[in-house]
Amino acid sequence: MQILRMPVILGPDCLSLQMGKDSMDKVIVITGGSRGIGAATALLAAEQGFRICINYQADEEAAHNVLEQVRALGAQAIAVRADVSNEDEVISLFQRVDNELGRVTALVNNAGTVGHKSRVDEMSEFRILKILKTNVLAPILCAKHAILRMSPKHGGQGGSIVNVSSVASRLGSPNEYVDYAASKGALDSFTIGLSKEVAGEGIRVNAVRPGYIYTDFHALSGDPDRVSKLESGIPMARGGRPDEVAEAIVWLLSDKASYATGTFVDLGGGR
Ligand code: NAP
Repeated sequence: MQILRMPVILGPDCLSLQMGKDSMDKVIVITGGSRGIGAATALLAAEQGFRICINYQADEEAAHNVLEQVRALGAQAIAVRADVSNEDEVISLFQRVDNELGRVTALVNNAGTVGHKSRVDEMSEFRILKILKTNVLAPILCAKHAILRMSPKHGGQGGSIVNVSSVASRLGSPNEYVDYAASKGALDSFTIGLSKEVAGEGIRVNAVRPGYIYTDFHALSGDPDRVSKLESGIPMARGGRPDEVAEAIVWLLSDKASYATGTFVDLGGGR
């Protein structure tokens, strides 16, 4: 008896969508790939055979340090400076990827920022706008330009997007940075909506929500040692490592997560 392993309704484009990208050329854009969680994701992606674009905003030395490490693992890679909250710069970023690595198949919306610990009644308009532009506008713009390459409506063959949100989206971060928490809440809504919008086009959209992770990010909040200080309040009694978040990101990108879309992996040590 013949066993049908694939739905029979699919045309050639959709067939390759169903088979996923693991067996095809894999090209990944990681925003904010020069440090912390983004850098750990770049290293893991290199081991998984991706061609890699490491995006950064300002710290060229850090980006080139990661670039050297991923190349040492045998990956074809480029480092591209771009403020991903500016659409002209996003367009240039994706054009360089087209020209130097090929059509993007995976996007990690990881670049993010936070302000100093404050109450809402102390926050400036400048600070709030910077957080919303970096944490909400930028991932939407990057997703737009990735979908223009991934969707069969635009000649693509599907792909996978992972947004790096935060447990703050459900905890709210009162008296610290409610604006940051709200930006991650918006990113969660975007993840749900976009996942449904492009599910029929072979594009999966998911998110990870880290808790306190040991990176330089906390210096932006005015307290570089924040994670160590707060460890006793974490159910697992320790902060997380960037590579622990990267593992979940790369799993969500892979065919191993082929039926997961619009979903969230929380990595908060129990928070
Ligand atoms: P990080 O170490 O501070 O790294 C941030 C990265 O984002 C850097 O590569 C930075 O580039 C880049 N970046 C910032 N603004 C950018 C922009 N406008 N355009 C392009 N790149 C930009 O941060 P992280 O801890 O790895 O955080 C990564 C993500 O995880 C963020 O979205 C953050 O909200 C989220 N997260 C972190 C934690 C945590 O505890 N660390 C917890 C929950 C969620 P430059 O260095 O060149 O500026």
